[in-house]
Amino acid sequence: MNRFIFVLLLFVNTFLDLSNASDNKNVVYKHSPLLTNDINFIHTTDTHTWLKNKFGVDWGNYYDFLRSFRRGVESKGQDLIVIDTGDKIDGNGIGDATIPKGIMSYEVFNMNMDNYDLLTLGNHELYTESSSTIEYYNTAKNNDKYVCSNVEYLDDGQWTTFGQKYKYFETNVNNRKVLAISFLFDFQRFNTLTRVTPIEKEIQKDWFKKDLLEKFNDENVDILIVFGHLVIQHGQNQELLLLHNTLRKHFQGTVIQYFGGHTHIRDFVSIDDKSTAIQSGRFCETLGFVSINLDHEPSFFRKYVDFTRQSFDYHLKVLKGDKIDWNVKNFISKKIDNLYKILNLENVLGYIPNTYYMNGKPLTSSSNLFNLIRKHVLKLLEKPEGREDIKRIITINTGLIRSDLFEGNFTENTKFQVSPYENKWKYITVPYHFAKHISNYLNTQSSIMNLMALPSISSPKSKPILDMELQYLQKNDDSAFEMKARLPLGPVTCDDFGCDGEDTLHEPLRYYKMPNVVEYSDVINDETEEVDYVYLDFFELEVFKALETMNYNGVIKGTSYDASSVVPLLQKYFNMNEQINMDLETVL
Ligand SMILES: [Zn+2]
Repeated sequence: MNRFIFVLLLFVNTFLDLSNASDNKNVVYKHSPLLTNDINFIHTTDTHTWLKNKFGVDWGNYYDFLRSFRRGVESKGQDLIVIDTGDKIDGNGIGDATIPKGIMSYEVFNMNMDNYDLLTLGNHELYTESSSTIEYYNTAKNNDKYVCSNVEYLDDGQWTTFGQKYKYFETNVNNRKVLAISFLFDFQRFNTLTRVTPIEKEIQKDWFKKDLLEKFNDENVDILIVFGHLVIQHGQNQELLLLHNTLRKHFQGTVIQYFGGHTHIRDFVSIDDKSTAIQSGRFCETLGFVSINLDHEPSFFRKYVDFTRQSFDYHLKVLKGDKIDWNVKNFISKKIDNLYKILNLENVLGYIPNTYYMNGKPLTSSSNLFNLIRKHVLKLLEKPEGREDIKRIITINTGLIRSDLFEGNFTENTKFQVSPYENKWKYITVPYHFAKHISNYLNTQSSIMNLMALPSISSPKSKPILDMELQYLQKNDDSAFEMKARLPLGPVTCDDFGCDGEDTLHEPLRYYKMPNVVEYSDVINDETEEVDYVYLDFFELEVFKALETMNYNGVIKGTSYDASSVVPLLQKYFNMNEQINMDLETVL
């Protein structure tokens, strides 16, 4: 591994200036190259139907990139394996605007099937019967690229592996023998047509002990790939480590490479001297790249590639691959455009003058989405008849929001991206001196975070900020601001290999912890006796619990507010006509 560290050091500060200026903001893109090796991997995970991503790059552009990238790698006499680790649905109109969800988006995803080598599912493919059925019949069944070692589907009354238990194959160029297995984490909210067996139980089964371990060993496997919807990060990777202990006892000399997902972060973990693990973000924002020198003492290299035109152009140029003609729409891009039209996703409903972040800015910042909501959006909730003169406090749970709001048009699609939940507004009339303490109570409860119908998919379960990350950020704060301000905003990931994993130099986007709930109040100077405490029915029980805890003696019963979700309020706020007035105000 020492040699590897040396190689890495050579690459520190080798960010190359490629495209000087672009877009309307003179952003400077500085990239560092991918170090290809014997075997190379590209990894996507948690794409959540962002088949056109926030950088304007679509699944068709990615198709062109993969083809060209593969040609470049293979012409160097090296191998490429392309992997996805699931959670393909929930999060974007192209999947969510249809009934059932994902009935059209899977077709688009699968148009890249030729470029993929290994696929599996995530927990989002298992919430509803329709999601699992679409995935099983259209993607997993009879597809020798689809591997899932611990999930089954009830196919015509028979419990059948969701895909296949494992895959053994040889690479295209150097005929390396690859064994691939795939595990989903111990997910328990699967629908009745499916079942998930936890890893610790699955590896006790006959197929694992007999078929797999008796058939395969260090002699007939050059590399073992374990890919799946499985968390790799330190402190949360107990299942992975348990699996690894078993595998390593058997494959003592084989490289074991893990590809994980679920928590939507970029991370890379060194497991032992022949094994590492990568997690590659979310929402088609990241391509995870890993290359391995398969010598007796293997070395590993990782990069998190931004899913942008600039990154794609840069890496294809370095590899001497074909350039992507961004003006030409291939059959996938055309299909996506078509779906956007059919589903009316680009219908413009308003304009977002600048990007609002969920976690990328502190709650007090004018660019924080929750700050915007509490200061300017919640007050747009219309009062029911007869309650016009009553003061109110309006509260939302922050888990309701699933995506940043990006500068540009507020479209039909934005509604799906920002929040898919249909929770209803309710209120309870209570003395102000009780109401004003409810939010404080809710913010001390961990249960409210866990109540979501679907887990929040935008806020990563934040990785604790490492000391090295803090040092990096502080160092950056001191550096010339002008320079920093012209870099694209993005993550700076510090992982087991250091802080140089990004392929694109970013102005660091930080992650700030948000409270469980935020509120708007129109009560000034405690001047009222009673208020309508307005909340979403999703956390009603928590509101009642708060009142009980405070020994409130009145009747605890919520009344409907005849409205649902925060999305119509956001739409109203960003509506072009109203924007003119809103712009006069500042978010304090
Ligand atoms: Zn996900």
